[in-house]
Amino acid sequence: MSAWITKSAAELADALAAGEVTSVELTQAHLDRIAAVDGQVHAFLHVDAEGALAAAAASDARRAAGSPASVLDGVPIAVKDVLATRGLPTTCGSKILEGWIPPYDATVVARLKDAGLPILGKTNMDEFAMGSSTEHSAYGPTHNPWDLDRIPGGSGGGSAAALAAFEAPLALGTDTGGSIRQPGAVTGTVGVKPTYGGVSRYGLVAMANSLDQVGPVTRTVLDSALLHEAIGGHDPRDSTSIDQPLPALVEAARLGAAGDLSGLKVGVITELSGEGYQAGVLARFQESLDLLVAAGAEVVEVSCPHFVHALATYYLIMPCEASSNLAKFDAMRYGLRVLPEGVESPSAEDVMRASRDAGFGDEVKRRIILGTYALSSGYYDAYYGTAQRVRTLISGDFAAAFEQVDVLVSPTAPTTAFKLGEKLDDPLAMYLNDLATIPANLAGVPGISLPAGLAEEDGLPVGFQILAPALADDRLYRVGAALEAALERQWGGPLLAQAPALAPALAPAPGHATTEENR
Ligand code: GLN
Repeated sequence: MSAWITKSAAELADALAAGEVTSVELTQAHLDRIAAVDGQVHAFLHVDAEGALAAAAASDARRAAGSPASVLDGVPIAVKDVLATRGLPTTCGSKILEGWIPPYDATVVARLKDAGLPILGKTNMDEFAMGSSTEHSAYGPTHNPWDLDRIPGGSGGGSAAALAAFEAPLALGTDTGGSIRQPGAVTGTVGVKPTYGGVSRYGLVAMANSLDQVGPVTRTVLDSALLHEAIGGHDPRDSTSIDQPLPALVEAARLGAAGDLSGLKVGVITELSGEGYQAGVLARFQESLDLLVAAGAEVVEVSCPHFVHALATYYLIMPCEASSNLAKFDAMRYGLRVLPEGVESPSAEDVMRASRDAGFGDEVKRRIILGTYALSSGYYDAYYGTAQRVRTLISGDFAAAFEQVDVLVSPTAPTTAFKLGEKLDDPLAMYLNDLATIPANLAGVPGISLPAGLAEEDGLPVGFQILAPALADDRLYRVGAALEAALERQWGGPLLAQAPALAPALAPAPGHATTEENR
């Protein structure tokens, strides 16, 4: 195993700039790691060794000529399979898109290519991003590298597991109700949902347009800032894209790492930090709050009374939008086409019915039915209309809270990673995992999840969530980097250095206590 795979993307970028390694060597090291462990983890649906190595060679040539395309030029990346990649399969974890090769790149993918990042492959996900465990993938689940019998979170479990298993130094995810942050929490990695409209959705296969957002999946806060800057900013191809420059994210992360948070006001969301959370999750959350105070922040409690309705609101709005978005998978335009059995000259409608029946999994069908019902005339105002009104109240809670504090915080997920199969037959139990992440999507505000340590009772990672006002994504990085630095001083290095089995041991940072002493 190459030592390069344990480095952060920022460290790899420095090593490339210093000429200590080539992009071809880095890319090959990650491809070797994928070959060695992905049989067990199943983070990838598709690996593009040839394309990644060709992009790496082109990156090395640019660097040799003294003209790298960006700071991250040559650092490889994995991409969630919900983003269109020209010439590479894009299935959204669904049978209905099996074999579809997009003729174009999503804007974020085009930006990665322009910035010189070789694309290692496409990562596994719950079908059409519906789920919290990656078990709804039509291609089989991804396994959590901390414990292969457990879920890696979802829907972007593939991207998070790829980072936690050191198969990629960076990845892209998408977050409609928590699919970047919750997998980050349960795998001990970092995930960011940017401000709605801050990163282009062009070429992201839509689940729920008013909620979906592309964002970074990484192992450090600084790496997320670097990737966010590479993919973010205005895109004329996305009508909801914000036409103004991103805040200085990398600068905010570097400033935060210096550790001084004096003058910062942090609000603990009353409704998201008590009932329904595992004891070990709450203990780690409290410990992080103490570290924020030690760094100079003032911590107060803030009530957001309508957040208790967020889950119900989301599970109306999201299926409504999804039922409409998924109507385009009709067996006529892309992907799977199934002819109904025993029908002599099937009509177009017969073919659509048979194809959608065979092509969509149970969870997708459940949400199409729910959304179609809620949008039907007679019920529209009672369900969809009411949900939209509650959504406005939730945005109002955020607005009022951000008048009092600079950032809001909560645990990212109510529990640590559960066992594969444990919640598969209980949709409501599965939906509850998104309790704390959903409000941000409903209001369009940005959020980050970063590792807060291991729960006492099961030794599994816990996530700490920070939310900021729309367009103030820089605050996530400043506060996140400060907390990360304080936590890593306690642990004696990154949390992932403590991961068993698959994770290679990382050397503790010099001058700090070893991991063992802190257990
Ligand atoms: N788990 C949530 C759902 O099932 C969120 C999914 C997501 O963010 N894509 O809808």
